[in-house]
Amino acid sequence: MKLLLLFFLSVSAVVKSQKCYDLKTVLKVEPSELYKPHLLASQNFGVNILESAKIFNHYIAKGKLVAVKKKSRGYRMQALEYSRPYLVKKARTTLERMASQFASKTKSFFVVSSVTRTLEDQCRLRKVNSNASLGISSHNYGAAFDISYVRFDNQLKVNTKLEKELEKVLLEFKNAGKIFYIKERQQSCYHITVRNY
Ligand SMILES: [Zn+2]
Repeated sequence: MKLLLLFFLSVSAVVKSQKCYDLKTVLKVEPSELYKPHLLASQNFGVNILESAKIFNHYIAKGKLVAVKKKSRGYRMQALEYSRPYLVKKARTTLERMASQFASKTKSFFVVSSVTRTLEDQCRLRKVNSNASLGISSHNYGAAFDISYVRFDNQLKVNTKLEKELEKVLLEFKNAGKIFYIKERQQSCYHITVRNY
């Protein structure tokens, strides 16, 4: 009997160490009013919540998630530690168009600091950044990316002029019904969710 109990305890310990989140708990976290439209928009692309690398790879194989280039006209991708450079097609196109428009106006580029995260990635992130959201995020559906506002042209500093130009592009895309965006001061970035327009 004792042995049996020991067996069950060790099995449950293994299961716990493999999963650092509980999907039911994660899904129960109520998003803020500001964040709700992002979440709903990201769930409109026919991609279920990206729990694990396995599910993520399944969507790549199906062609639902596509690779995002490390650099293109108007943007550069930061080395990503807690996210993966893949998006749904429309989000990739939108990123490229916004970047190209930004480049035409400024001759500069912005830096993409985060892309798609599985729930597993989010757990790893939470271990180093306690501000990382406990609940689900539009990054978990392949429809969101972050643009840093302190790294224009790969220079780590505040650049009010370029930030204003970026805001203009974001506002134009928002007013056209293509994106939602939030300025996230803790992470010094704009969080952008692409809508299925
Ligand atoms: Zn974000």
